[in-house]
Amino acid sequence: MSTGDVEVDVCVVGLGPTGRGLAARCLARGLSVAAVDPHPDRPWVPTYSCWVDELPDWLPPSVIASRVAAPTVWTTIEHRIERPYAVMSKTELWKALPTAGARVVAQKAAQVGAHRVEVADGTAITAAVVFDCRGLPPVGTRPAASAHGIFIAAERVADYVAPDEALLLDWRNENDAAPDAPPSFLYSVPIGDGTVIFEETTLGIPGGLTQRELRRRLIARLRTHGIELDGSEHSESCHYPLDQPPPRRHGHKREPIPFGSRGGMMHPCTGYSVADSLALADTAVEAIVAGEDAVKQLWTPSARAVYWMRMRGLTGMGRLTTEQTVAMFDSFFTASPRGQRALLSAHDDAVALGAVLFNTVAHTWPFRWRFDLVGWTNRKRWAV
Ligand SMILES: Cc1cc2nc3c(=O)[nH]c(=O)nc-3n(C[C@H](O)[C@H](O)[C@H](O)COP(=O)(O)OP(=O)(O)OC[C@H]3O[C@@H](n4cnc5c(N)ncnc54)[C@H](O)[C@@H]3O)c2cc1C
Repeated sequence: MSTGDVEVDVCVVGLGPTGRGLAARCLARGLSVAAVDPHPDRPWVPTYSCWVDELPDWLPPSVIASRVAAPTVWTTIEHRIERPYAVMSKTELWKALPTAGARVVAQKAAQVGAHRVEVADGTAITAAVVFDCRGLPPVGTRPAASAHGIFIAAERVADYVAPDEALLLDWRNENDAAPDAPPSFLYSVPIGDGTVIFEETTLGIPGGLTQRELRRRLIARLRTHGIELDGSEHSESCHYPLDQPPPRRHGHKREPIPFGSRGGMMHPCTGYSVADSLALADTAVEAIVAGEDAVKQLWTPSARAVYWMRMRGLTGMGRLTTEQTVAMFDSFFTASPRGQRALLSAHDDAVALGAVLFNTVAHTWPFRWRFDLVGWTNRKRWAV
């Protein structure tokens, strides 16, 4: 060991919401923690949302900035999803995940090993367990979540998205997308600061869509509802891969444990990872305290089966036309609440997920579109 080196129970590399959550839960359990991030105090940029029931009990209610009791999905008809949905307050979430007591190293990790992390200035941290929470690698041609979001004052859009309402998936044909172009939908929710986010989003298309095209589609949608931008609106963009796999079964003995979006917790079909990762933090912490294998506890056979099935869903979704996607969602949203939950959020309900995927395919009309859905035809429709 050289001067400045540190020895701890747990080293967390990356202090996004996932890493910070994990560090906070390790500290709450009495473990000694080091955390490495080049910008540990930089506020998080994206707007994080989730289903309210996904949030772990240990988070205070203040982390919810905006709550919608029953968000809406538009396919060929309107569906009300009787399941509360929330946008999180980033400042309150930050406060709820304290890292006081951790040795925070404000540097980039240069080498991340199973038990040793070397930072940019050459010093090292030795830990019984290293969690790699560095987020996602670049997209390239991988199936992507791409979105362009514009924040608009709630009173200007009240006729489109009323207060206390949200459009979770709006597939109405209002975005001027060409019929032979990859599909995208509108996501719109009040974020709790007096604005509503309108986000044109595409999920599963290899390489995603450009910000320019998504913005063009979004402006077309807003115009359909009589809303013109005046240039004062802030925007956000997103572009990240959806297929980041869980850790290998035995690899973690020689490698750090990837956790959060980096470790298979990015949902392949929704692009969400924050609530699930926070909910799983205690599983990892308890495994460490008990001297058990954290990867085995996090990634049970059932959880791995769920991930595998969601990946099939992702590749299916990523080859459909807009019309086919709408038909597929029409079928999916007739599923029972448990079936919907199994796809949208549950970490390891493999039985319900298998059933809902089978039924979604079986009830998609016209019949021939099922061949695209399962990949017998038009397998690489949007491949780049
Ligand atoms: C516009 C937008 C909207 C989104 N909406 C949602 C949503 O509604 N719900 C949801 O769940 N997700 C959403 N996401 C996805 C969300 O961003 C990710 O789910 C989330 O950020 C993953 O958290 P994480 O902690 O795993 O990784 P990140 O948030 O990517 O954090 C990674 C951290 O690692 C640090 N790091 C990187 N390299 C190093 C290194 N070499 N050494 C040390 N530290 C390093 C970074 O500085 C960063 O702090 C959205 C994303 C975008 C862009």
